Amino acid sequence: MRKIFESIDFARVGLLQSILESEGIGTLVKNYDLAATAGVIAASDCYPELWIIDEAKFEQAERIIESYNSPAPESGSTWICFTCKNEVDSNFDACWNCSVPRPKKEKQT
Ligand SMILES: [Zn+2]
Repeated sequence: MRKIFESIDFARVGLLQSILESEGIGTLVKNYDLAATAGVIAASDCYPELWIIDEAKFEQAERIIESYNSPAPESGSTWICFTCKNEVDSNFDACWNCSVPRPKKEKQT
C-alpha cells in the first residue's frame, strides 16, 4: 500500500476515493473516522489519508488525482492572497488586508 493524498478536508479525500474506486483502483482511507468525529482537527497527523492498495496502480491514480486537483479558479469564488494567505472575496481585485493585487489568471483571452 502507498499513500497518495492527504488533506485536512476529509470531504475532498472521500471524493477522490470515490473517483479512484470508480476507475477500478482499490483505495483505503485512514483517519477518516477520526477527522469526521473530531470536528476540529488540531494536528497534522490526524489528516485523512488516501492510500492506494495496489501499488501497481499508483501512477494511474496519481494522474487521476492531478487532473482533479489542478487549480481552476472560477469567477465568483474567493481567492487566496499569496502574501498574507488571507481569503479574499472575488469582488475585490486587491487583498483587503495587505493591498496586494489579485494574481492574474495565466490564460486570458
Ligand atoms: Zn494579503
